[in-house]
Amino acid sequence: RVELYDVEYDVKLRRRTELEHELRGAIDRDELHLQYQPVVMLPDVRPVGAEALLRWQHPRLGKVGPDEFIPVAEECGMINRLGAWVLHQACHQLSRWLAEGHDVWVSVNVSPRELHASCYVEQVKDALRAHRVPPQRLVLEVTEHAVSHDVEELIRRLGDLRQTGVRIALDDFGAGYSSLGQLLRLPIDILKIDHSLVVKEMVRVVVELGHQFGLEVIAEGIGDQRQMAMVVEAGCKLGQGYLSGWPV
Ligand code: C2E
Ligand code: MG
Ligand code: MG
Repeated sequence: RVELYDVEYDVKLRRRTELEHELRGAIDRDELHLQYQPVVMLPDVRPVGAEALLRWQHPRLGKVGPDEFIPVAEECGMINRLGAWVLHQACHQLSRWLAEGHDVWVSVNVSPRELHASCYVEQVKDALRAHRVPPQRLVLEVTEHAVSHDVEELIRRLGDLRQTGVRIALDDFGAGYSSLGQLLRLPIDILKIDHSLVVKEMVRVVVELGHQFGLEVIAEGIGDQRQMAMVVEAGCKLGQGYLSGWPV
């Protein structure tokens, strides 16, 4: 048993070390790109926005998913550089869509560590300015898992970001263990309901809660017609998931 555990641990550690090493050059070798998944208005399923999702295609390791490499980037201090790259790419794409006359917004996922860097607000302003994007067209997604630490500090940071005119979404709502009281103190504009809550009466309760607090509500991970019907029935006006569009 002990030996098996050691072997597994060794394999994991090697993989992690390799990812860390390879990730360092990924931007310069042009191995990263963004995919965009539509956010649609319901029930007519009209696209109104898109979430930028980071992809890494390595020549030898193949596709590595963000669930695997984002935590590595966070731990080894590379997330700020990756995040800055994502922000610029996303603003660039957004400015093109706007120039083509599409009435859309784009959201970008932000790690807690980026949020807490002192220069983050300036970075966001720079990206908006560089690509001439109106701030209200950009949404920054902060995951509920970021809320566990220093809530007061998080409230200040999000407040500063919001001052720039960008909108804030609370991602993965309902997937963590944060207290509802704390979550509802955050200065946010949008609630993204985690796909694990897209079941039975749960959606309805959360949608009503969000609307009571004046928030826009997006149901995540709508994968089939049954879930779609449930979300629409619950009065949710925005949705995202494989049914209405894969990340492309
Ligand atoms: P997330 O922000 O909650 O993104 C939604 C995830 O759900 C995406 O996984 C998306 O591909 C997946 N998804 C979309 N539709 C469906 C569906 O119908 N059913 C199910 N089961 N899943 C669906 P992905 O792209 O693998 O990203 C995983 C997580 O990695 C993201 O979760 C986000 O937390 C993180 N991530 C992705 N890109 C970035 C980034 O640029 N920066 C940071 N910091 N994190 C990122
Ligand atoms: Mg997200
Ligand atoms: Mg999510």
